[in-house]
Amino acid sequence: MKVDISPNTAEATASAIDLSTEGLHQALQTHLGFNVFKGNQEEIVRSVLKGYDTFVIMPTGAGKSLCYQLPAMMLPGTAIIISPLIALMKNQVDNVRSYNDTDDIAHFLNSSLSKTQIRKVKKDITEGRTKMLYVAPETLTKEENIEFFAETNVSFVAVDEAHCISEWGHDFRPEYRRIRDMINQINQRVPIVALTATATPKVQSDIIKNLGLDSENLYMSSFNRDNLYYEVRPKAKQESTIRQIVGIIKEKPGQSGIIYVQSRKNTEEVAKLLNVNGIKAVAYHAGLDAKTRTKAQDDFLMEEVDVIVATIAFGMGIDKPDVRFVIHYDIPKSIENYYQETGRAGRDGLDGRCVTFYNYSDIARLEKFLRDKPVAEREMTAQLMQEMVAYAETTSCRRKFLLHYFGEKFDDSRCNGMCDNCRHPKVKTEAGEDVALALQIVEQLHEQYGFKILVDFLLGNDTKEMRDFRFNKMELFGAGKEQNDNYWQSILRNSLLAGLLRKDIESYGTLKLTDAGRQFLETPTSFKVSLNHDYDDIADAEEVSAAPAALDDFLFNMLKELRRSVAKKNNVPPYVVFQDISLEEMATQYPATMEDMAKITGVSIGKANRYAKPFIEVIARYIEDNDIDRPTDLLIKQVANKSKTKVNIINSIDKRIPLKNIIRDNNLTWEDLMDELYTIVASGTRVNLDYVVEEEIADEGIREDIYEYFRTAPTDNLEIAFKKLNEIDDFDLREVQLMRLKFISEMAN
Ligand code: ADP
Ligand code: MG
Ligand code: ZN
Repeated sequence: MKVDISPNTAEATASAIDLSTEGLHQALQTHLGFNVFKGNQEEIVRSVLKGYDTFVIMPTGAGKSLCYQLPAMMLPGTAIIISPLIALMKNQVDNVRSYNDTDDIAHFLNSSLSKTQIRKVKKDITEGRTKMLYVAPETLTKEENIEFFAETNVSFVAVDEAHCISEWGHDFRPEYRRIRDMINQINQRVPIVALTATATPKVQSDIIKNLGLDSENLYMSSFNRDNLYYEVRPKAKQESTIRQIVGIIKEKPGQSGIIYVQSRKNTEEVAKLLNVNGIKAVAYHAGLDAKTRTKAQDDFLMEEVDVIVATIAFGMGIDKPDVRFVIHYDIPKSIENYYQETGRAGRDGLDGRCVTFYNYSDIARLEKFLRDKPVAEREMTAQLMQEMVAYAETTSCRRKFLLHYFGEKFDDSRCNGMCDNCRHPKVKTEAGEDVALALQIVEQLHEQYGFKILVDFLLGNDTKEMRDFRFNKMELFGAGKEQNDNYWQSILRNSLLAGLLRKDIESYGTLKLTDAGRQFLETPTSFKVSLNHDYDDIADAEEVSAAPAALDDFLFNMLKELRRSVAKKNNVPPYVVFQDISLEEMATQYPATMEDMAKITGVSIGKANRYAKPFIEVIARYIEDNDIDRPTDLLIKQVANKSKTKVNIINSIDKRIPLKNIIRDNNLTWEDLMDELYTIVASGTRVNLDYVVEEEIADEGIREDIYEYFRTAPTDNLEIAFKKLNEIDDFDLREVQLMRLKFISEMAN
């Protein structure tokens, strides 16, 4: 395409530039202070300097900016750099300025500038001082700017984050579609440099077409990140997921990591759960005000916090090289998102761990959100999510799957056990005949359909499409019904990965036979596959095994004995020391440190400090004597279930507000309030009820009698207390209730 047209502006002047390796290295030194090019930067820079349209696909952090920065410095005129994020423009400009002795070298032009500032920018450009101008696509479309650029000597236009052009990319921006138009109005011949960090073959083709690029000059770096370990785990209950996350984090305390969750509310909930488990984590989402967000980012960079729990809003432009793990608490919406987000791990080249928790019901929920979207968008998003599902369920090498998705060939023997499927391979079964059957059906249906239709056809499902297309009348309809959906999904997916099938670029998702596929159809050979994971089953099974571990009766009795003696020593009844439910949990979970002890139900830090020491000693010795293999990180403290009402009550009592006001303000009955207060004190929170007691029970003798009763009673049961006390004297139930609360609060906490 490019070859036919006459040399453009840049090409004409490039002849004055030394394009030899030495020349380019010299320029690299002079302009940017670097000694060597990374990856294929040198070839790319040469291509841009020669005035060719150039398409750069390079993973994040690999150094795309240099590919336009260096040529911009070397060529006459000003390069226009289109970038979607106004928020990052200033950073980018500052970055360029830092290599130079004058600020005029780079500017940005967007709505945040004043008229005076804009005038200054344009003057610097006209007078040839500015080599790079960053603009948002919106800026480019403004009439007055177009006129200005038309008269400017533009060396080239760089389109950063070029995947925004495609609806199949992960950040589609409609304004990006108009870039070509704008460039035509400025100067048809100006070369274009498109850059992106993710582009599937479909997105690549969209970019090339939309910008009218010369596809010969495509530079694609490998997307393989060989220091990242990929892993997908079944997602069952929240508790079990949190337990696993805490386990991963605590393997190397203090390591930096990001946890992605889908909803804003969940970011805060998960952060809180990590906090109570001793992990420095903060939430981050677009709903927080700018100050809070900036603080979270800064704290993360400065390692004031270790873990960020974020929606996808986090990460753009964050460059922390030593992020050691990226966890997806919820499945990402597309492989592009997944790749980008996991890509933030291990930028320094050291280990990075990427764990995704997956449950198909999360996908179903995401799909529900799509219901109100236009059909085209809904179908597209659903397709992208199905790819994510396929990734999660595959038993093939995850690295191979990812790279294949981005159009890169990868031999899975090179994974070196850096994904769960390579590390724990599943047994493979012979499926040569079934692969042949699947391919035959692809052919019979004229290579017009994708996964869903093919699988429905194989299974002989009675769906609307099967009837409408009269597929149910065809001979092979239902030919694979001995097997299930998962089986045929696996067969088709494996055929795709093995290159027997390919996805059509134009009609996205349609499966076509490749030459190898036709060959296989003619002479089928052996073909081994391992079937996809069925995570729903695994999650169900895990749910069962996550049920309370067995109670150690022997230890439980030891602890009860201990409680008796501790109670005696402190002159309190045993239940004041620990309630039965706490002892049971200890005899199940074996807490052997103060920290773990405080995670036991009904044990606050205060209570642990007061009573737990001898218990910890007994448990620790017991573990050792009996060689008990206490699963580490088994203990997960749940956020205390403090409803808003409970919090209000605690605060009100702190402020010594009369009970009748608390009752009125929180819409409670007296009984409700007593119940709430009992739960509060029984779960380890201390409240000072003296002002209430003095007010409600004038008679000091009565107070003492009741208090004494609880001191010696075998149980704190209210009915029993009321009955027993009334055998001695006349007591009001309310008096007993209040004194019981005071007693538990003071003695147990
Ligand atoms: P990308 O846009 O591909 O995500 P950047 O262009 O922001 O990546 O580059 C990432 C980092 O790599 C930057 O800090 C940049 O200065 C650095 N870098 C790029 N190329 C080189 C090089 N040839 N030598 C040294 N550092 C480089
Ligand atoms: Mg970049
Ligand atoms: Zn692998």
